[in-house]
Amino acid sequence: MLTDLTIAQAAEGLRKRDFTAAELTNAHVKAIDALNGRLNAYITVTADQAKEAAAQADKTLSAGDAPTLTGIPLGIKDLFCTKGVRTTAASRILGDFTPTYESTVTANLLANGAVFVGKTNLDEFAMGSTNLTSAFGVVENPWRRNGDDTPLVPGGSSGGSAAAVAAHLAMGATGTDTGGSIRQPAAYCGIVGLKPTYGRCSRWGTIAFASSLDQAGPMTRTVEDAAIMLAAMAGHDAKDSTSANIAVPDYRAACGRSLKGLRIGVPAEYRAPGMSAELQAVWDRGVAMLREAGCEIVDVSLPHTKYGLATYYIIAPAEASSNLARYDGVRFGDRREGASLNELYERTRHDGFGEEVRRRVLVGTYVLSAGYYDAYYLRAQKIRTLIQRDFTQAFESVDVLLTPTAPTAAFGHNEKPEDPVQMYLNDVFTVPASMAGQPALSVPVSLDSTGLPLGLQLIGRHFDEETLIAVGSALEKAADFTARPTFRAGAAA
Ligand code: GLN
Repeated sequence: MLTDLTIAQAAEGLRKRDFTAAELTNAHVKAIDALNGRLNAYITVTADQAKEAAAQADKTLSAGDAPTLTGIPLGIKDLFCTKGVRTTAASRILGDFTPTYESTVTANLLANGAVFVGKTNLDEFAMGSTNLTSAFGVVENPWRRNGDDTPLVPGGSSGGSAAAVAAHLAMGATGTDTGGSIRQPAAYCGIVGLKPTYGRCSRWGTIAFASSLDQAGPMTRTVEDAAIMLAAMAGHDAKDSTSANIAVPDYRAACGRSLKGLRIGVPAEYRAPGMSAELQAVWDRGVAMLREAGCEIVDVSLPHTKYGLATYYIIAPAEASSNLARYDGVRFGDRREGASLNELYERTRHDGFGEEVRRRVLVGTYVLSAGYYDAYYLRAQKIRTLIQRDFTQAFESVDVLLTPTAPTAAFGHNEKPEDPVQMYLNDVFTVPASMAGQPALSVPVSLDSTGLPLGLQLIGRHFDEETLIAVGSALEKAADFTARPTFRAGAAA
């Protein structure tokens, strides 16, 4: 089936004319028609535009010399502005906002020939780890526990992208990651997710959550596909002053590279109290696989890890409260009228934002307020520097770190912790790399005893995504993770 192919296989098939881009896109549109009603992975399906783009791709392919992603159907997280296509951030407050411009990352993908099949669901403004906070309804994880019908969360915030890729409703998808939003849903859905180094992909035209942390990246079914997509997404952009002017290497060439002599660090502090024996065993297996592949294993310490979550949940809301100030009902999106200007703001922002977003705006405003700035925000910034220093020191003695991606497998829609702070604990393994701007990759490694995927995380040096890809592809090969979810294109569920 065409929807079973990887991006690498499809790109080759298109070039050999085994099938056309039109056929490939139609197969994915049909799969979306069949399954999106159930999974709710897409907020907006752009079937007509996709068909037009596929026809254009077929022309480019017959002319020869087509860029790598020509004719490849992708999902786009609905946080990237797409010209002429409604962009929601999964929030009511944006109303029917339709950008008149294209984000740099999606423009790069389009220039590389990609076909966009739709805009994927997410937690509102990318705040969350479940997709339960979307104003457009929850997303269902295509995986089920063995013999159990409980609908599970896909993780978040890029949960729609993860579900779409896992269910073969797209060959790959874009995600964004502020504190784990690419890696954690990738782990929950049994796919690959790569958060590049902060600054590797332009943030221009991506709706901002926390600007010093936000980073776009690929979500795919193989490491090689992530390498292919990242090469197309990345690059310097004069429109984002934090985008790095560093050449984009041939990431795909790093797949299958020998790991001889590489040093893999295992950070002691990630052995969180209460970690399940099962997750510990998967982590140990990952270590054994990399040792087998020729790596040296080194115990390392990242002593400030324990402050990661607390500082993240000060800095991210602080930046969010400032970024979200623009949604005031005057310049953007939906408005609720009021007797005074303040009332208009209050009503608009109360009705327009969901509960979690309102909580973050309140926390952020509080930690930035005059009386508390030094006690919270400034102190968090100092600790952030210490967390960054931990990584710099660790990378003096190792090339890559190996850790679990998330503390648990996917949980049920109705099993979400009531206490928001309990929910934040989910990000414990992903947040530190975000705080330090390190690139990190989640690779699916095995199923737990209930039949759900578990992922391991590789964290690398700044701008060294290549080593992550090399190690990730070796881990992928050794793990041989071939299990597929219950709900996917072509499977009778
Ligand atoms: N779960 C984290 C949060 O809620 C991370 C979200 C993200 O990376 N966008 O903030």
